[in-house]
Amino acid sequence: MKCRFQIGNIVYELTGACNQCCRFCYNYWRDGSNPIAPPDPDTARRTLRKLLFQAAVGTLSFSGGEPMLLKNIHDMAMFARLRGSQVNILTNGTLLGEDAVANFVSLGVGAIQIPLISADSGIHDYLTSLPGSWEKARAALSRVVKAMPQGAYAVLVITKVNAPGVTATLQMIRELGVRNVMVNRFNIGGMGIRNLDELSLDLTTLKQAFADVEAFAVTAGDMHIVSGVCTPACLLDQAEYPHIASSWCSTDFSRRPVAVSWTGDVRFCNHSPHVLGNIHERPIGEILSDPAVTARYAVIPEKCSGCNRLSKCNGGCRAASEQLYGTFSLPDPLLGE
Ligand code: SF4
Ligand code: SF4
Ligand code: SF4
Repeated sequence: MKCRFQIGNIVYELTGACNQCCRFCYNYWRDGSNPIAPPDPDTARRTLRKLLFQAAVGTLSFSGGEPMLLKNIHDMAMFARLRGSQVNILTNGTLLGEDAVANFVSLGVGAIQIPLISADSGIHDYLTSLPGSWEKARAALSRVVKAMPQGAYAVLVITKVNAPGVTATLQMIRELGVRNVMVNRFNIGGMGIRNLDELSLDLTTLKQAFADVEAFAVTAGDMHIVSGVCTPACLLDQAEYPHIASSWCSTDFSRRPVAVSWTGDVRFCNHSPHVLGNIHERPIGEILSDPAVTARYAVIPEKCSGCNRLSKCNGGCRAASEQLYGTFSLPDPLLGE
């Protein structure tokens, strides 16, 4: 039997469509300039099958757009499980009913992540641009907690708008019974580029928000809080926030999630707009092993050369630089051009 290429982690984008239009959405195709194609369940299923015949994938995170718009999402989850992958669902929660959660549980889905970005329904609904989304996201998270307590994850995206309410939001999340929270600072991209002035965190606000999260984490020992977006270490020293776990970006694809879209396009990660190849034209193993791909990501930003934190920090989120400046060779836009 032919050995499949091994990949630890893939974010599989089942569709570009979404029923929300979050002001902070990082999806590069969601910048308001192009109409977004409706979900295409057949193409999504065909691409997933191709992917899982080309590669053995440790964890597949079903994302989008909004993956619950796909009527065949459970079939795809089952197929992925049968091919040996762990499956996680990244959803806005508004379409996640009780039956859907029960089906995911029976398929052995490991985690369901849902954003809850404010304790104030008005702020949440304002940021998602969908009236009633707060109520639905809360209800969905409660369902997930009940059905799979260990697999319930809340996502708190911190922008200038909701930063002052971070502690109250975390408290609300805890009261729902959720014990895992991903705290993501606003990362520039997609629709967020249009709303930069409104959403961007100045350094003082960013540090205060992290200090608030840290203070909350100290009092909530039963919670696991992780910062999901790398921030330049010269701006935000993670050592000052020991109760917030952090992950670092890596140019080594075995140490970061690679993005694959429903059409088969492969990208560095889900924030990156640059397409490296398409799995319907070349196997994913060939695309990721291509020397031109390795060379593209080997470039060190000038501002970071000689920095003794480079091996860990890697210049912050350079996919955000790809979105804003069109290049991976500049460090995180938080550093300025
Ligand atoms: S952030 Fe997620 S929920 Fe919001 S518009 Fe983008 S894909 Fe949809
Ligand atoms: S690698 Fe670049 S962004 Fe990171 S700490 Fe060093 S200078 Fe700052
Ligand atoms: S480039 Fe940015 S979004 Fe992509 S893996 Fe690295 S930190 Fe995460």
